[in-house]
Amino acid sequence: MSASDVAKPVQPHKHRKPSDKKKYFVDFKKVTVKGGNGGNGCLSFLRLPLNPWAGPDGGDGGNGGHVVLTATTNKKSLNHLSTVLTAEHGIKGRNKNCHGKNAEHSYFEVPLGTVIKDSTGQVLTNLEDHRDYYVAARGGAGGKGNYHFLSNENRAPAYAEEGAKGEERKLLVELKTMAHAGLIGFPNAGKSTLLRAISRARPKVASYPFTTLNPHVGMVLYDDYEQIAVADIPGLIRGAHENRGLGISFLRHIERCSCLLYVIDLSVSQPWTQLEDLKFELEQYQTGISKRPHAVIGNKIDLPESLENLTLLEDRIKLPVYAISAKNRTNIEPFLLHLREMYDKHAKHKGLGW
Ligand code: GDP
Ligand code: MG
Repeated sequence: MSASDVAKPVQPHKHRKPSDKKKYFVDFKKVTVKGGNGGNGCLSFLRLPLNPWAGPDGGDGGNGGHVVLTATTNKKSLNHLSTVLTAEHGIKGRNKNCHGKNAEHSYFEVPLGTVIKDSTGQVLTNLEDHRDYYVAARGGAGGKGNYHFLSNENRAPAYAEEGAKGEERKLLVELKTMAHAGLIGFPNAGKSTLLRAISRARPKVASYPFTTLNPHVGMVLYDDYEQIAVADIPGLIRGAHENRGLGISFLRHIERCSCLLYVIDLSVSQPWTQLEDLKFELEQYQTGISKRPHAVIGNKIDLPESLENLTLLEDRIKLPVYAISAKNRTNIEPFLLHLREMYDKHAKHKGLGW
């Protein structure tokens, strides 16, 4: 062995800084849940020095733990959730009538607004409030030991039960953002800019599509302390229902919004086509969804071509258009008052969620 082999320089360990870690927003996961198995019952006969036939003394096995999903305000996405969720097994019974320990239940946290479906898509439950929970898979019961079967007919039962298997099933876990109102618009319409203008949420803004990759929710505060949650729903493009771009996966976040706010870019010619196409995409996702209480916002009124487009738009759609400039924060006030009216009428009594 040469000296150089002995004195090999230690390679510095490449640590990943926390900031290097990319955090992906996950709003859908297929998970397998497995409850713990029950512990087996024990088969044993007690032998004492003066009484070699002292009878059966096999204890029962402990129960397996359940897999429980609990809703919490601490989590905002599903990326921490692993795809297989298991609970502990019960401990088997022992001689001298020792009962095996029951396993603790395993709790897994999910964000508020999580919908749990079975593998066929049937909704099993909605976890909407903090500490709502759902027992996703039950643990198996512990088996009885042979002491349990002692009777006058059978003084020496030579059998004990096996613990039951824990339940196992496949579930679909979906996250639906909960907001009173959702901003619906094609990329670049100014949804994120508008949400920044009316709330303290800070979604990314830039002039290229798919800048915002996860839904942001901002709270709009009114003078009487009422708060309205508004969500910036990203990724909707023409043909999204045919799975173009990010597809319609983000539309599941609209499902929960009681009011829809269509954000139209007025600087683009024929702006009414934007509204028609947005409604069409929504209908493809779920029929009737575009008929929800809604308002139309014409954005970028500060640009020169917008004024003309605004009159054209108003003529075509026969609905009031709230012409604003999200960037310069002009005309935001009347829109916020209207939002409040819609909220009082349609969303307040429902709370968060549809
Ligand atoms: P999103 O894709 O709908 O979220 O759109 P963004 O909020 O990211 O905005 C897209 C681009 O439009 C950005 O460059 C914004 O600065 C710009 N923008 C947004 N609102 C206005 C506005 O009222 N007037 C003008 N002139 N530009 C705007
Ligand atoms: Mg955006």
